[in-house]
Amino acid sequence: MAPGARELHGVGVGRGVVIGPVLWMPGPLAEPADAGRSGDAAAEQGAVRSAIRSVVVELRDRADRAEGAGRQIIEAAIQMAQDPVLAEQVDERIEAGATAERAVYEAFRSFQEQLTSLGGLMAERAVDIGDVAQRIIAVLRGVRAPGVPESDAPFILLADDLAPADTAQLDLNLVLGFITRRGGPTGHTAILARSRGIPAIVGVGADAEVAEQTRVILDAASGIITVDPSDAQVARLGNRATASTPPVAGRVAPGALADGTSIPLLANLGSPQESAAAVALGAEGVGLFRTEFLFLGAQTPPGVAEQQRQYEQVLSQFAGKRVVVRVLDAGADKPLAFLGAGHEDNPALGLRGLRALRARQQVLADQLTALANAQDASAASGHPAELWVMAPMVADAPETRFFVDLGRQLGVKTVGVMAELPSIALVADQVLAIADFVSIGTNDLTQYALAADRLLGSVAAYQDPWHPAVLRLVGLLGNAGAAAGKPVGICGEAAADPQLAVVLVGLGATSLSMAPAALADVRAELAGVTLERARAKAAAALAAESAQGARTAAATA
Ligand code: PEP
Ligand code: MG
Repeated sequence: MAPGARELHGVGVGRGVVIGPVLWMPGPLAEPADAGRSGDAAAEQGAVRSAIRSVVVELRDRADRAEGAGRQIIEAAIQMAQDPVLAEQVDERIEAGATAERAVYEAFRSFQEQLTSLGGLMAERAVDIGDVAQRIIAVLRGVRAPGVPESDAPFILLADDLAPADTAQLDLNLVLGFITRRGGPTGHTAILARSRGIPAIVGVGADAEVAEQTRVILDAASGIITVDPSDAQVARLGNRATASTPPVAGRVAPGALADGTSIPLLANLGSPQESAAAVALGAEGVGLFRTEFLFLGAQTPPGVAEQQRQYEQVLSQFAGKRVVVRVLDAGADKPLAFLGAGHEDNPALGLRGLRALRARQQVLADQLTALANAQDASAASGHPAELWVMAPMVADAPETRFFVDLGRQLGVKTVGVMAELPSIALVADQVLAIADFVSIGTNDLTQYALAADRLLGSVAAYQDPWHPAVLRLVGLLGNAGAAAGKPVGICGEAAADPQLAVVLVGLGATSLSMAPAALADVRAELAGVTLERARAKAAAALAAESAQGARTAAATA
């Protein structure tokens, strides 16, 4: 390390290296206390008016620099900030004894609730009104407003944590990479970073500090952040700092083992817009389309027509190929306002995935209808894709039967389930007698097998899918799939690790789905081993006592 330079360590996401100044992203503001005003009402009212003026100036400046839909949204926010009725309500609350902050908070919240109850486009605006209120309160408090900071120059974002919605909205022309204090390698923030090709390091620790504008090197491959590097350290990076995954030139051979056994290599996607890049990188279809990423900001359930449009868009880009769509997986770190479970002390063990959908069956029925319509439209287009639909967080055979029956009843032809809970692996034979296919979500399967929250950096070491306990669960599912003659794919991050991919195939996985950037390395690794060898590696890994032991055993088998 250069003299003066300091290192922070975390879990790297991706392989990129970026250099840039750090900007801090403030978290949401604490709710203003309901303590009652001690100062003069007129002074508090004046302070609110002046805070609104400065928020409007700032928003106007942003609107001038934005284009299209972005500009319209900011202009709508300016109108809300200047709404005379809202201003009156703030004044009244101050007269009645509230502090300036509390009055803004309450008046805007009540307006927000009214918009939410109206549904549709109005409900979408409710989020923006909350954002305006936070900006006004931040000015009153003399702190920076929450959210991704404004900057004209590229920067590396440092945050306590990022919600999936924050990650989805990052402007890639400006955000070179990000560092979070919390979070684990398979949290959804990390998954989105991977899918958007943003180098990131997560879980650097609750007290990691880097002063604003300090230059850092973020090396995702090693998980090391070099704070204030010397010029020599920067120069040593050479063009590694700009390297990114090149698209594959020409046609790519389908995924196969050295003996010709076919292992389709599929893409994990979060939006139809990611399809073209996945195809360019050689995806032979989609193995996991995470539909909840489409609706992270929505306040009300998306309509059938709106959903159908998005699904048709994906299907149209994979003509002749398989597209596996997962119905909404809400809960834990992917809260959807319209499927909300309210506060839960242990949300990963709460009303997640299929459980949340069973509590709101109309939302599930609408989504399955939209998918069935998209499937039929694709079939009628003359360039059909093969739609498979699956449910997340399914526990056992009765839950499988519920989902498969409903899917078929609503017109979906191929219906399966995800294996993410140890329980489903233990009754895999029963489940595969009902479902058309199973797709193993190794991120959650690892989280639940080892009881290690995938969002917690402090237990990141447990979140290792190489653990023989996880591999044995995968083996149970692989064997049950072979006995039933039905496909058992992998769609968790484990499939993107080339050596582990071989072991998973040896355990019976019939397809592998991953972030498109990982396809080339996995394809190359598979091409070098026969099925017999993959099985020998799997057997060696199953017999190991630890994740590290399994890695070594597989490498030498
Ligand atoms: C998984 O759990 O492995 C999975 C693919 O689903 P998600 O990561 O979206 O929870
Ligand atoms: Mg999962």
